[in-house]
Parts: sequence; structure tokens; C-alpha cells
Amino acid sequence: MLETHEAMIVNHPLARQYGDELLILDRGEGCRLVDRAGVRYLDMGSGIAVNALGCGREDLADIAREQMLKLTHASNLFATEPQLELAWKMLGSGIPGPPGAAGYAVHFGNSGAEANETAMKYARLYARRRKGEGCGGILAFTHSFHGRTMGALSITAKESYREPFEPLIPGCDFLPFNDPEALEAAANEGIAGIFVEPVQGEGGLSVVSSDFAGMLNTVCRRHDILLVSDEVQSGLGRCGRLFASELTGLEPDMITMAKPLAGGLPLSAVLIHGGINALLEVGHHATTFGGGPVTTAVASRVWDILSDPDFLAEVRRKGELAAELASGYLEGIGVPGELRGAGLLRGVRLLDEGYDGMWCSRVIAECLRRGMIILKTGADVLRLAPPLVISDGEIEEGLSLLFDVIRENL
Ligand code: PLP
Repeated sequence: MLETHEAMIVNHPLARQYGDELLILDRGEGCRLVDRAGVRYLDMGSGIAVNALGCGREDLADIAREQMLKLTHASNLFATEPQLELAWKMLGSGIPGPPGAAGYAVHFGNSGAEANETAMKYARLYARRRKGEGCGGILAFTHSFHGRTMGALSITAKESYREPFEPLIPGCDFLPFNDPEALEAAANEGIAGIFVEPVQGEGGLSVVSSDFAGMLNTVCRRHDILLVSDEVQSGLGRCGRLFASELTGLEPDMITMAKPLAGGLPLSAVLIHGGINALLEVGHHATTFGGGPVTTAVASRVWDILSDPDFLAEVRRKGELAAELASGYLEGIGVPGELRGAGLLRGVRLLDEGYDGMWCSRVIAECLRRGMIILKTGADVLRLAPPLVISDGEIEEGLSLLFDVIRENL
């Protein structure tokens, strides 16, 4: 039995929203994390879907170190080679946009929320210029999560996240997820942008259906609405595709990305097509640290790895292995359950009454006690988001332990 209490801190100096009791992690090696007391954990969370390439990467550390010694910061008044190199790579990666879209550009920021804030601003600007004043509506979906800054929070569905901070940005509304008819009925010229996650990362891992993706493409073209695919969690290989939009044929005007982009360093990106870029003027938007030379130098290497078709095929294969194993275990426990997600972003949910969020938290705590970190998503879904470099053996080990704990808690 693993003891973790030596590595727990109760009276910590951090703001309370992260919880009263925290485990102090010390280091990581591949898919293993080690706490302050030396206890090792199998990492089935990657932070929260961030450490796609695992921990302790010498290649990334060398790049960061060399770039820090060369030039750490340059401001947005200048460009740097690493920033340009990454941008060219991103733009040359077969972005799944609307038919005929060209002239793509990238805006770099620091976090997922900030990327979505940027996309909200661009959507409003575009709508105002193309359709006139008053066309600033933004639509998002039930169970969406787009971040916690005021703009991104305005399109995040969860009431308990929103309510303490209202009033939020006016003109934002939510539609039922995967409901083409509701979408068709609500879309009109007054809408500037529609934000959708191809796989709902924090809202329970529901995947956009092909029908719904088709309807999103259609209504957005019909009303000149900008379609924004929030791939902060589901993109960059996590679901077995470089762009998560590819999973179901979404054709977004903007794609927001962050979490794994710079191998654990803070960097986000918004990909936009030329129709949007042409409207931007100096001063419309900027950020001091976004796209700095160190984060982009590291991200350039991360991009090479994550965009490699062989690497992506491996993620899909390992995702299928995880799903197969989980489905076998589920059959064996005698409680109806469902699997959600795609690639190496997978969810397990038990359907009988009683297997609620509290139960999930108990399972997660017991997994931690027995040396594995897993996460929750939505109200009651156990989420597996391991580093994409996880081995077959580690996938087997993780699922076996998870279902041992589930069985003991039925
Ligand atoms: N969008 C999605 C889909 C996310 O999963 C998250 C974070 O979990 C965000 C946006 C916000 O990203 P950040 O926490 O970097 O602001």
C-alpha cells in the first residue's frame, strides 16, 4: 500500500480554489510522476491533458535552455525565428477549414482561455465589419468549457462556474449539444460566432456527431457566422488527429489550441483564415508574453512529433487498445456502463444510480492511494488522458488498476 501523506500539504499559501489539501509533486519520468516523499504514480492525466510527450524530456529541456541563453523575450514589436518557424509549420499542416479558405495566420497567446477570448474578439470584429452593428451574438453548447476569464466564462455552460461572477459578456447563449434542429432554429445573421469542442473535454467527453458537424458547417456558411473549434484539450494528437475537427468533418474558421502545444510550457494559438486576418489592424489585440521565443522554440519540436502521421496512427491504435480493455472490464463488472471520448482521451461512466460525482471522487482518491493519477470530467465520468507516449504495458496496468478499484467500490 502506498502512503502519500508525507507529501500532502494542508495549510498552503496558495489561493483556496485549488483545494485545501494538495499533493506535492516533485518530478516526472516519462509516464511516471514522483511526489515529495518519493512515491511513484502512473500518470493517466498528463496534468490535465497537457504533458502529451511525458515528463523529463531532455530534447525539450535542451531547446528551452539554449533559447533562454540566446534570447528569452523580444516583445510583439519584433518577430523571432522560433516564432516564425512554428507559425510556418502550423500553417503548412493541412488546416481543416471551410472550402476555399486561404491566407491562414496564427495569433499566439498564453492559455486556452486567452485563445478563446481572442477568437471571441475576432468573431465580433468580423461580424461588425461584414454584417453591421448589432451582430455580436455568440453561441456555445451545453456542457461546454472554454475557460475561466470573463469572456471565455461567458461561453462556458456550467452554472456554478458562471453564477458568482455575473454579469458576464452580453449576447452569449447556449444550445443543446449535438442537436442539429435546435442549431438550425437558433442560427441567424445576428450571430457572430459559434464555439464548439469536437470532444467536450471538461463536460464529459461527448463527441460532436457527423450530422451535427455537417449542420454547423452549413448554418455558419449560410449566415456568415464564424465557426470556432476549441481544440485546447482535444486537439494536437490527443484524439488521434492533429486537429480534432478532422474526427467528424468540422470546417472551422478558427481553431484554438493550447495545452500540449509547448510541452508543458504556457503557449496557445488561434489559427484564422485570410478573411478574418484581412480585417485585423495594429492594436486590435496583443499580449506581452504570447509567442515568445522560448515557448515557440520548444513548441516547434513538439509540433514535429505530434504532427507525424506515424505518431498519430500510434495514438489511434493505443486509444483503441484502451477502449477495448475498458469495454472488456466493463462487461465483467455487472453494472451497465458506457465509454466516451476518442484517441487517448477516454471516459468511463457507470450508469446505475449511486455512481455519481462523489463516487468518482472516491475512485480517484483510491487510485491515487494505490499509485495512479486519473481525472474526472463532467458530473460523473472517470477520465483517462495519459501522455500520448504511454506504452501498451502502461495502458494495461492503468486500466487493470482502475477496474480493480471500481470493482472494490461497487
Ligand atoms: N478550452 C478547453 C476545451 C479546455 O479544456 C480548457 C481547459 O481545461 C480551456 C479551454 C481553458 O484553458 P486554460 O486553462 O489554459 O485557460
